[in-house]
Amino acid sequence: MLDISQAFLNHGEPLPVLDHVNLSAGPGSFVSLVGPSGSGKSTLLRLAAGLDRPLTGRVYVDGRRVRRPDPSRGLVFQDPTLLPWLTVGQNIGLGPQVQGRADDPEQRRRVDEMIDLVGLQEFRDALPSELSGGMAQRTSLARALVTRPEILLLDEPLGKLDALTRSSLQTEIARLWEHQGFTALMVTHDVEEALLLSDRVVVFSPRPARVLEDVAVDLPRPRTQDDPRFRELRRHILELLA
Ligand code: ADP
Ligand code: MG
Repeated sequence: MLDISQAFLNHGEPLPVLDHVNLSAGPGSFVSLVGPSGSGKSTLLRLAAGLDRPLTGRVYVDGRRVRRPDPSRGLVFQDPTLLPWLTVGQNIGLGPQVQGRADDPEQRRRVDEMIDLVGLQEFRDALPSELSGGMAQRTSLARALVTRPEILLLDEPLGKLDALTRSSLQTEIARLWEHQGFTALMVTHDVEEALLLSDRVVVFSPRPARVLEDVAVDLPRPRTQDDPRFRELRRHILELLA
């Protein structure tokens, strides 16, 4: 994303939100974005998704300009946004269904594979209302990955889950990322989560957001929070955010 600026109208006055932001993620890398509440993190993710257009600057994926949402970019939001009248299996199969490929055996295999990968075999025929928050978010992850996106965009995907569920889903996301080989761009307010998962943590200033620092996470995986270097990086990022 090159030189991105964005502003909105707020009671008739322009509200600058992003101030010449540059951000890139190499193929297969995991990049997290942290910053104060209201700094423009979700705004940036929506631009990366092609849901909005920037005021200035350009968004590219693989050298191609992003102009609209596309199956090559999967999205996971804080709220699972599942269709309540469809089962878990049908929600996960929604992408292939919309593309008219629901009966394609390869697509059906892929839906089965994703249900297995997120451990929801027994809940395939359950409705969203029958799921816990963690299971609903697993369903969202599987749905986003079923079409094999090159990029997964995650906006505080674990923000509403309790600590235990969050921790198990962090491990799950790390495992999916290692297996499936997508590039991940994740917004989170949880610095430890960012450090557990990411190759780089990009730190935003308060609105209008600038990149304060692009922090390389030079830690082997799997990571542990007890590592002195982990604690040093956490302290450094928290100081930037203070
Ligand atoms: P974050 O995700 O970092 O908490 P957001 O990107 O959601 O922040 O929002 C940044 C600022 O932009 C906020 O002040 C928000 O009110 C404003 N904003 C976001 N989207 C819109 C919109 N569509 N119209 C007007 N203002 C918006
Ligand atoms: Mg947000």
